[in-house]
Amino acid sequence: MKQNGFDTLLEQVTSGAKVSAAMWRTLIAELGDEEKERLTLMARNVAQAHFGKGVYVRALIEISSYCRNNCYYCGLRCSNELTQRYRLSKDEILDCCSEAALLGFNTFVLQGGEDPWQDDEWLADVVAAIRARYPEKAITLSVGERTIAGYSMLRNAGADRYLLRHETANDAHYSHLHPDSMDPGERRGCLVDLKSLGYQVGSGMMVGSPGLTVEYLVEDMIFLDKLKPHMIGIGPFIPAAGTPFAAEPHGSVEETLHLISLLRLRFPKALIPATTALATLCSDGTQRAVFAGANVVMPNVTPLACRNKYTIYNNKKHDGSESAQGLLALSNKLEEIGYYIDFSRGDYRR
Ligand code: SAH
Ligand code: SF4
Repeated sequence: MKQNGFDTLLEQVTSGAKVSAAMWRTLIAELGDEEKERLTLMARNVAQAHFGKGVYVRALIEISSYCRNNCYYCGLRCSNELTQRYRLSKDEILDCCSEAALLGFNTFVLQGGEDPWQDDEWLADVVAAIRARYPEKAITLSVGERTIAGYSMLRNAGADRYLLRHETANDAHYSHLHPDSMDPGERRGCLVDLKSLGYQVGSGMMVGSPGLTVEYLVEDMIFLDKLKPHMIGIGPFIPAAGTPFAAEPHGSVEETLHLISLLRLRFPKALIPATTALATLCSDGTQRAVFAGANVVMPNVTPLACRNKYTIYNNKKHDGSESAQGLLALSNKLEEIGYYIDFSRGDYRR
């Protein structure tokens, strides 16, 4: 592409002006290596302009490996007989929070399958207990699709943020990834509900999921442009044993990093994690994601006995960053590239 054409494109993305489908297509799939490198560097600079060289940390607690849904890609899908099931009790979750608080975390993320046993009332009680103990800390939930009444109850109990990836913005692709019982419109409706209730909302998609095309990624960008999420989580698809997609190839690390950079340029203030899926596929995935513009890491503080049962995909990385030692390792990793752990709450700044 001509140099001035590329500059105009970048200007369009960073200025917040409308970016057409054709422009997104070029940015996603038609750039040369040099252009991609320039884009990455620019994304890194934008992240540094907003967050310095700090990377926020969130303590991830995987509260249940039971799920009523049957997403074709996910190891926790209800019909996967290989998955060992567990659910944490209220006390176990509170213990995780107290360990995480001792380590210095200021955000707890409660994530899990859609476990019918952990219903709105039960979860609201847990959230309220965390809120009472830690009035200053942020509570993030990532427990799937619920009614607006449920989301409202959880918000009133003290939840601040909610992660619900849209997974793919294209309906046909959504049907390729999910059984008929799951409706893309409903999922997107949940995101609107969450926003209306004042949650900081996170969405995102898997990169390289089966059937994904460049056109669908273009639709994802346009969808995110409209949604304006506060947090955007993207990671490569990784096959999970016992699922219909067990033999599919994993998504590309390079493509994920490129998309992180594009998202950083388009959403300068967004909280964008260096995901575990990326770190699972390459040992320096966290560092490379930060260099591409990511500014959040979510160390896992789930009790060790349960951690290897939360098998969303194969070989999920757990490097012990829950312990003081693990955090030190993360800190060293970031230091190697001139960054540091920022332990503050890391809310979305308007
Ligand atoms: N049940 C909740 C939260 C747990 S799943 C939900 O679905 O929202 C969290 C995320 O893991 C999903 O949004 C999906 O994008 C990701 N995921 C699931 N299976 C995966 C796989 N095989 N490879 C990579 N990411 C996967
Ligand atoms: Fe359940 Fe979430 Fe996995 Fe789908 S992606 S099966 S909703 S845990």
